[in-house]
Amino acid sequence: MKVRTRIAPSPTGHPHVGTLYMGLFNLIFAKANNGSFILRIEDTDQKRSRPEYEESIYESLRWIGLEWDEGPDIGGDYGSYKQSERSAIYTKYCDQLLKEGKAYKCFTTSEELDEMRIIAKKTGKKIGYDRRHRNLTPDEIKAFEDEGRSFVIRLKVPLTGEVVFKDEIKGIIKVPCADIDDQVLMKSDGLPTYHLANVIDDHLMEISHVIRGDEWVSSTPKHILINEAFGFKPPVYIHMPLLLGTDGKKLSKRKNPTSAYFYRDSGYLPEAFLNFLSLMGYSMEGDKEIYSLDEIIKTFNPERIGTSGAVFDVKKLDWINQQYMISSIEEKDLWGRIKDWGFNDEFMTKLMPLVHTRMKTFGDFIDLCGFFFVNHLHLNAEMLCPRKITPIQSCFILQTFLWNLEKNGWDKEAVEVSCKNLAEVFQAHFKKEIIPILFVTFTGKLTGPPLFDSIALLGEHRARARILEAIKLLGGISNKKMPLLQKAYDAQNGKELFANT
Ligand code: GLU
Repeated sequence: MKVRTRIAPSPTGHPHVGTLYMGLFNLIFAKANNGSFILRIEDTDQKRSRPEYEESIYESLRWIGLEWDEGPDIGGDYGSYKQSERSAIYTKYCDQLLKEGKAYKCFTTSEELDEMRIIAKKTGKKIGYDRRHRNLTPDEIKAFEDEGRSFVIRLKVPLTGEVVFKDEIKGIIKVPCADIDDQVLMKSDGLPTYHLANVIDDHLMEISHVIRGDEWVSSTPKHILINEAFGFKPPVYIHMPLLLGTDGKKLSKRKNPTSAYFYRDSGYLPEAFLNFLSLMGYSMEGDKEIYSLDEIIKTFNPERIGTSGAVFDVKKLDWINQQYMISSIEEKDLWGRIKDWGFNDEFMTKLMPLVHTRMKTFGDFIDLCGFFFVNHLHLNAEMLCPRKITPIQSCFILQTFLWNLEKNGWDKEAVEVSCKNLAEVFQAHFKKEIIPILFVTFTGKLTGPPLFDSIALLGEHRARARILEAIKLLGGISNKKMPLLQKAYDAQNGKELFANT
């Protein structure tokens, strides 16, 4: 069997480090077995998928030195490698299941589904949809269609028995069919669900091994059933341990910098980052910690893949990065590398207008804008609480600012809008409360170059990390308070919440 692996990211945000981690292991596995590594873009979620995120996937994978053998940008024999260009294929396959009576049209409305979910929750049932349209007669179907009702296509999941499959890391997994919902295969907009498109593509692209994160293991029984319905031979499944934060919980964007670009922009070396990622899920013979991609490919033994979650420990990453700095950059090249990273002409051209009129001597330069060139600002909570602002109020302001930026974007104008809105939402003093909190969060001081330009120039990834760091320093927002803040944010009215905390 020819080994073919793939990653199938969805272009709905900047690539999470987990995407690089999975890319790395898929590539290693393929290359260690003389196989091919494929990149497929799963962009069926039309609302959230964006072309710039697709570019971002290519760029970040290439940043750490991962190259794919087939993909949307380079082509290959199994294209198109972009799901939005494969709609006709999914429709054809789904029609086949309909014809064979293995799938059915379901006309249930969203209100009806909501009701069913509430009942399922009350009665402790694992499945939400009560299969009410599973056995409609042709006349009933026609009547619904004549009414102009929209429909989804669902898989007829067997009512009894078990789905049994082997995960190469976890062993045999068994799930009773009674616990599996009749999966939606086609949405009412005629687009396939992740499950349908993913299974069809893995089959047509002859993927031999599906190596993906543990969070997908609950989807696998559904994938097995879809494979069975089509009569496809399922690939081998390997679910890799998840990346965890140092708190032992899943590495999340809400708490940790998870974008690959944050690490690039913070001055980590791609080779070191790749080495670090591989250590997350794998241990080399003799516990060797510094090695190249070639070395791991040559000696790869799947039995050495870790079985429990891998802690994404930045201290370890720092140590590895330092080893690479020492061994792979000669002294004579060091300044060139630092210059390329943060002191390049492109960046300086953007920075100069911000500092031009604010220095008396060149000697003021670093004092004024050193915050652009450091990874940590050495803040304390007091600095983030001007006037009578409490730590939790400051957290609310910062979290809301982050939500605003995520909604409005990270350029100067968007930053300004996002910032001004805070004063309205919380009825806080713009100049004496909002601005000082933000100044300290991003620059570590109360004065400096213009704030909105500075945040925009810091860039989304580092700016986001600074917000998260400040929130953490202030004690964070509890799971109880977060939904209250979210509600106030949705209503654009946080005055009461702010005053009562
Ligand atoms: N589109 C899924 C993702 O965003 C693919 C998951 C899989 O590998 O099956 O990660």
